[in-house]
Amino acid sequence: MLRLVSRRRPLVVVAVAAAALALVALPASAGQRSASAEVVFVDVGQGDGVVLKVGGKIIVSDAGEPGKAAAMHAALEAVGANKKIHIAILSHGHDDHVGGFERLLTKFDYDIDVAVASENVHWSRTKTNRRLLAALDEHKVKIEWVTAKDTFNWGGASWKVLSPLRNAYLKDDEVENSSVVVLLTTNSKRFLFTGDIKQQASAALAQSWTAGPVDVFFVTHHGSAAGSAEALLKKIKPSVAVLSTRSSKIFAASTATRLKSHVIDAIYCTDTNGTITATVSADGIAWSTSKPGPAWWAKASGQKGECAGR
Ligand SMILES: [Zn+2]
Repeated sequence: MLRLVSRRRPLVVVAVAAAALALVALPASAGQRSASAEVVFVDVGQGDGVVLKVGGKIIVSDAGEPGKAAAMHAALEAVGANKKIHIAILSHGHDDHVGGFERLLTKFDYDIDVAVASENVHWSRTKTNRRLLAALDEHKVKIEWVTAKDTFNWGGASWKVLSPLRNAYLKDDEVENSSVVVLLTTNSKRFLFTGDIKQQASAALAQSWTAGPVDVFFVTHHGSAAGSAEALLKKIKPSVAVLSTRSSKIFAASTATRLKSHVIDAIYCTDTNGTITATVSADGIAWSTSKPGPAWWAKASGQKGECAGR
């Protein structure tokens, strides 16, 4: 399944590396928000795992279940990470999002500089989370606890944390709402990551949204009925949506309908399209998928097939 990706990868890596070198010559202000990037939505089955190479920096935003660490490693190898992760974003403490990080550290020997997470009591409540925190500690990974309004400049791009607010969603049953929500702007293209936020955080995000339309929306909570609220979709008006799911139990029919009426161009689904890569350059975003065929759904041509039974 990943063979298609790796076969064409060297060309992309060369292009991205060349772009990164070009950026080095620019003053810091010129590089701001203009880094070339590769955003790889890894097919991790039911879960989220995204590998990003932005201006030469490697950022991993969630790493799937523990058993998906090998798939994450393959995607990291394909972008030339060379066992280095500069930033690991741990959206929230559920196994299908952060379970893979421990094995990336312990089995695949990755060196992670910084882990970014939001506070919630669930981090200490499960065995997987306790093992992950212990592994981060053992490997001397700095943990940065973030809240809305924190901003970063990883790889010369703009990363804005939009949720959770300080001291919000700290309880165990608020773990999904505690997801770190991040808006990445690179080369004037905007990617929104919302983890598994539910109605409450989604409504607050919609209400405070001032950023205008986004180019790519990573669909909330694998397409569950509780995520990707109408109010939010109306504000963010995504050109393209990417959905990481394999379960019709989670991917709700109502969300499929909502997405189709608000997404402007296309919806990709890891179940249908496999690993999905967005390559961002000054020319725009180029899309490629590990499984052959078009996006699961496109406005221009209608639905092409099923996504997790929808
Ligand atoms: Zn999830």
